[in-house]
Amino acid sequence: MATQPGTAKRTHTITLIPGDGIGPEVSGAVVEILEAAGAATGVAFDWHRFAAGAEAFEQTGHYIPQDLYDSIEENRLALKGPVTTPIGGGFSSINVTLRQKFELFANFRPVKNLPGLQTRYPGLDLIIVRENMEDLYAGLEHVVVPGVVQALKIITEKGSTRIAKFAFDYARKHDRKKIHSIHKANIMKLSDGLFLSCCRKVREGFPEIEYHEHIVDNTCMQLVMNPFQYDILLTENLYGDILSDLCSAFVGGLGLVPGANLGTECAIFEAVHGSAPDIAGKDMANPTALLQSAVLMLHHINESETAERVQTGLEQVYREGKTLTKDVGGKAGTKAFAQAVLQAMESPVAVPA
Ligand code: NAD
Repeated sequence: MATQPGTAKRTHTITLIPGDGIGPEVSGAVVEILEAAGAATGVAFDWHRFAAGAEAFEQTGHYIPQDLYDSIEENRLALKGPVTTPIGGGFSSINVTLRQKFELFANFRPVKNLPGLQTRYPGLDLIIVRENMEDLYAGLEHVVVPGVVQALKIITEKGSTRIAKFAFDYARKHDRKKIHSIHKANIMKLSDGLFLSCCRKVREGFPEIEYHEHIVDNTCMQLVMNPFQYDILLTENLYGDILSDLCSAFVGGLGLVPGANLGTECAIFEAVHGSAPDIAGKDMANPTALLQSAVLMLHHINESETAERVQTGLEQVYREGKTLTKDVGGKAGTKAFAQAVLQAMESPVAVPA
């Protein structure tokens, strides 16, 4: 039952990092849609906004200001736009730093078709569960001698067991049938071997869930040939990152796929995509990925009615197919797309059975 505007029953305080590149455009659209959905369902949002990365450095002299750390610590919840990471030098990734600081060990990325959108694999519904703190992302690199650089791939029993447990617990709770652990243990016998042995140990407690192991290069081929054979992909950090972008293409591209960085204390919700400098500031970005990340966030804070209102409006816009952004074959800009979602939430159309 929709509530009258201005009669909010609950207020959620959320740290908001709009990000840079297309970040401010997509996060602006998402905040507007969440505000409207919340007003209709009795939920208010108190956004604590912070810059991060190069913009924050210009303002405060820090890439991640202490106030931002404190805000996430206090709210335990953040919605984050993409932040540019310099390539081949410069400051460390803000994304990786935040994931490590708040022990956001699980990266949860559902890859699902939206109704009405023509894609190569209609009806696809798979999930990537990516370890989020270890692997080559530990950022441990050094010059051994000039011309020789070493990067350390860190895989631990604790990290591997915890992500495997997360994936199996999720599968059991949500009635998912199958998990594939993705690895390269034929070459990295110790590191990926440890990851696999932890997955095998965890799976013993979940006999009802089908379990398989695929080598990562073969997985890429298998995914393109027939992604329907997969249900949950359980991966280390780097393989999960690469497979996420690959899988996003199956459902329409990076403009669509959401993500959640989850720990035991905090959660940061962000899209899979980056800051997309090629289209930044042009009113071209698709806010769907961040909007679906926000829907994950609403479910996480038990605001399912608001989440459903947003998701239903979003799906209606895709079903109608008249106001879509360029990346998915439409002509609308970011702002027009957001307006269409707002309108769809106001005037829902019954979905044909
Ligand atoms: P990207 O995801 O920014 O862009 C890849 C391609 O997808 C581009 O053609 C872009 O236009 C398109 N695209 C991405 N998001 C889109 C959207 N919402 N709507 C329409 N098209 C979209 O990847 P990149 O170019 O490799 O990286 C750019 C920067 O983003 C780099 O500095 C990278 O480090 C950073 N990055 C940040 C995050 C994050 O903040 N979580 C994640 C990935 C990359």
